[in-house]
Amino acid sequence: MTRSCRSMNLSEHEKERYKRQMTINGFGQERQNTLKSKSAMIAGIGGLGGNAALYLAAAGIGKLVIVHYGKLTLSNLNRQILMKDNWVGNARVTQAKKFIEELNPHVEVEIYDERISEELAVKLIPTVDIALSARPNFHERRQLNKASVAHGTPMVEAAMNAMEGYLFNVIPGKTPCLNCVFPEDDPGWQELGFPVLGAVSGVLGCLMAIEAIKILTGFGRPLLGQMLTFNLFDMEFKKLRTMRDPMCDVCG
Ligand SMILES: [Zn+2]
Repeated sequence: MTRSCRSMNLSEHEKERYKRQMTINGFGQERQNTLKSKSAMIAGIGGLGGNAALYLAAAGIGKLVIVHYGKLTLSNLNRQILMKDNWVGNARVTQAKKFIEELNPHVEVEIYDERISEELAVKLIPTVDIALSARPNFHERRQLNKASVAHGTPMVEAAMNAMEGYLFNVIPGKTPCLNCVFPEDDPGWQELGFPVLGAVSGVLGCLMAIEAIKILTGFGRPLLGQMLTFNLFDMEFKKLRTMRDPMCDVCG
């Protein structure tokens, strides 16, 4: 399936389902129709991507393409709210699809129990309207960034550690890309076992969903050339300017 080919007509049932958000000033039925016609790739269905997927589905996005390698462990359950205690040992993407389809049967869900390789990113990015970058390592994020920039597909980039997080959008041709902002991997990143309070990843996952909805529908003002950082230890939020690197290997 190629992007933006779903029906944009809302049924009466859907109008009732989404009426509380369609009354937000400036959102309306037209943007709701637009959201229904759009698709998002969720790269990582953990604490960040799982929450983002949940709120994109609840808001009425047309399709989610979920990519996450691996099986559920007990220590995932403090933050991965699409999962269930009796699902430990099973593939996370399967449970995520089931949960989202039960939440909102109007959302189409495609799943891949794989890591983001160059091949997979190049295959999937052209089929979606936006990518959400929520894998716990730079290698997979860089593959996603490269494919997004090459194809002109927007990407929402976010990560967290303990009580802190950051968020910025990559709009190819308009903003810095992931490689401009982080030319080198942060050696402090641990793929497994980094500390996380579930509610912190929940906040950041929701912020990712909000930025994706804004970019997809043209509503509000998404972050452009700015990075939001926060430390919820003392509730400090900041917006920092990001600069495009004209010599960037990916978007320069
Ligand atoms: Zn760049």
